[in-house]
Amino acid sequence: MSELSLRQVKKNYGSVPIIHGVDLEINSGEFVVFVGPSGCGKSTLMRMIAGLEEISDGEVSIGGKIVNDLPPRDRDIAMVFQDYALYPNKSVFENMAFGLRIRKSPLEDIRRRVAQAAETLQITHLLDRLPKALSGGQRQRVAMGRAMVRKPKVFLFDEPLSNLDALLRNQVRAEIKKLHQREGGTVVYVTHDQVEAMTLADRIVVLQAGRIIQVGTPDEIYHQPKHRFVAEFTGSPPMNLFEVKVVRKEGDCAVVLPDGTELPLAAAQDALCLKTSSDTVVFGIRPENLVSTSETSHPQWKTLSLEVTLVEPLGAENVVHLALGDYDLIGRFQNDLRPVQGSRLNVALNPKTLHFFDPATGQALIHGQPANSTAQ
Ligand code: ADP
Ligand code: MG
Repeated sequence: MSELSLRQVKKNYGSVPIIHGVDLEINSGEFVVFVGPSGCGKSTLMRMIAGLEEISDGEVSIGGKIVNDLPPRDRDIAMVFQDYALYPNKSVFENMAFGLRIRKSPLEDIRRRVAQAAETLQITHLLDRLPKALSGGQRQRVAMGRAMVRKPKVFLFDEPLSNLDALLRNQVRAEIKKLHQREGGTVVYVTHDQVEAMTLADRIVVLQAGRIIQVGTPDEIYHQPKHRFVAEFTGSPPMNLFEVKVVRKEGDCAVVLPDGTELPLAAAQDALCLKTSSDTVVFGIRPENLVSTSETSHPQWKTLSLEVTLVEPLGAENVVHLALGDYDLIGRFQNDLRPVQGSRLNVALNPKTLHFFDPATGQALIHGQPANSTAQ
């Protein structure tokens, strides 16, 4: 049975529709991440699940029970916000105990559960301190502890790491993942950060302008984006996407790249010409799927000789900008390949890694395969 289900959930602010009818089933124990750009409706959806925002239409069920009309405290959920909102005059212990106290749990029970959560989060030595005597990462853990002592049906996290600096964010992110693997629990986690989504989620829900664009495992979202929006939103740098002309010649199909190169399509992609009658398609290739010709043993792959316009060294790898006609084509290469700005670099396109999208709707026409897959 699904722990949390949304059926045609809608939200209007006045006459303005913000969430346009979301359907989603979340299983018990699943870690689901809502990801999307700022303003796409992630927090609104979360707040409707929590009961902090009225649902304009549709149904929210938790543990098989419709909760539309239940106040937040009766929904068996616990929430962690972006600002941890700890009580400044209460100790860490009292902050964590607060939710149990207002539910009139026995004191012994409160002590035991706070001690247990504190140990899991490694904050036992901080229980007597006030929040002002804690670092950002420690406060964040107290906020999580406050949610954990409750053992709710569903945990809701709304961008809980966004106030932490980059290093701490990575540490706490890894801690959250380990914690979930150890303790279980159903989690809905909101973030605008695709790396956070990829690393934490069992399943990712990609939202755009109040609609679900795709639901899938991190691998599915990354390797089989159903829409150009998903392709553009994942990966760093994201997928290269540009419009190309389609050329049809007696059963053969090719596309013309922005520098004028004609790229014949492999058998697997030939279907493109059947799938669309359009004169153009959106061509997509991930930066890591541009292969230096010195590194490939596939002489039959189309090779482009392109001017290097910028090199961004990242230590373990280099991000290299290449002029493909007017398009700024971005490649990612191992550190032993660091071309000089202004020189030319020969890159081969692995045909099975190419993606194609409909230029009008953005829907995927052909999915690329991961470079190391054996699928043909
Ligand atoms: P996200 O969390 O994805 O950044 P939100 O859910 O906070 O996005 O907001 C989604 C949209 O709803 C935004 O366009 C925002 O301006 C609008 N919105 C949020 N709260 C209100 C409100 N109380 N009144 C009117 N519009 C709102
Ligand atoms: Mg938000």
